[in-house]
Amino acid sequence: MMNKIQISKVPSAQQKQIPEDHSKLGFGQLFTDHMFMMEYEDGAWKNPRIEPYRDFQMDPATLVLHYGQGIFEGLKAYRKDDSIYLFRPEKNIERMNQSATRMMMRTFDEDLALDAIKQLCLVEKNWIPDSHGTALYLRPTMIATEATLGVRPSTKFLFYIIASPVGAYYANGYNPIKLMVTEKYARTAPGGAGAAKTMGNYASAMLATHEAHEAGFNQVLWLDAINKKYIEEVGVMNFFALIDDELVTPNLTGTILPGVTRDSVIQLAKSWGTKVSERQLSIDELIQGIQSGAVKETFGSGTAAVISPISDFHHQDQTYQVADGQIGSFTNRLFNELTSIQYGKAEDRFGWIHKIEN
Ligand SMILES: *Cc1c(COP(=O)(O)O)cnc(C)c1O
Repeated sequence: MMNKIQISKVPSAQQKQIPEDHSKLGFGQLFTDHMFMMEYEDGAWKNPRIEPYRDFQMDPATLVLHYGQGIFEGLKAYRKDDSIYLFRPEKNIERMNQSATRMMMRTFDEDLALDAIKQLCLVEKNWIPDSHGTALYLRPTMIATEATLGVRPSTKFLFYIIASPVGAYYANGYNPIKLMVTEKYARTAPGGAGAAKTMGNYASAMLATHEAHEAGFNQVLWLDAINKKYIEEVGVMNFFALIDDELVTPNLTGTILPGVTRDSVIQLAKSWGTKVSERQLSIDELIQGIQSGAVKETFGSGTAAVISPISDFHHQDQTYQVADGQIGSFTNRLFNELTSIQYGKAEDRFGWIHKIEN
């Protein structure tokens, strides 16, 4: 049974002022007038609706506030002229249900969630900035809402989607980042929840990121928790290295978040005839390759930045610079091609774009 989404709008006189200066948007600071919500209780998802953006009231014993039973997603809506585009939203929805299963939360109807995203974009159409690099960032979230201190899965959940206009990620220029390889911390471990977009993973990574910042680096390069040897991720992005003519990315072992951007990079690179290998890549192989010149380019991938070039790796008191430290041509080509597809400027050869129509 398909639930129809009820829409109740904020009267126009009470709507927020939509910022005109897209250069000051930043990331996730400002939210639109409406949000999507539905609740799970008594065995079913109920009352899917779009209503005015508002605060939540909750019992201090609410499960998510204690044990972190919560998951989220992140995707962007793009606007060009009068059209709205989503990039592979079905992948985010599918992944959210996988996260829900891992966290003992309730899955939901994927068509309903896609409809919710599209309806919210239509309601907030005027909030979607149209300058290149800007977008409306959508944050589907699910939290455990039963009030109990019992350590067990909730019987009640809230699913909601909020939306935030975001500025160009590279407002200050498309510059390479410098990474600190950490052997002190691990993001996750085999058997853990590293493949789920669940709240606790981000809280537990903050100290490592803070220490990397203090030491003068932009992000952490995560290694596997057991051997502290194999590369896993870059902060909250997936990792890629162009080694000679082979594009290498760590294989999905269960400790790595299966990124939508990662999958798109793989498909795009393969379509260009590049050899792509999803395999283990040790930090030693990377460093030796940087020293020998075999490693040509390195970058991270994720929805927020799309592609983030990496110039330096700091490991065991030494810093290694990839090639000449500049952004490589392969990295540039990927960034340009992906963003052109997302903004409806290049042909959508893979059927990745959903155009939202009234
Ligand atoms: C969200 C996320 C990514 C990137 O996934 P995309 O679907 O490409 O945005 C990579 N790693 C982690 C840990 C993440 O949370």
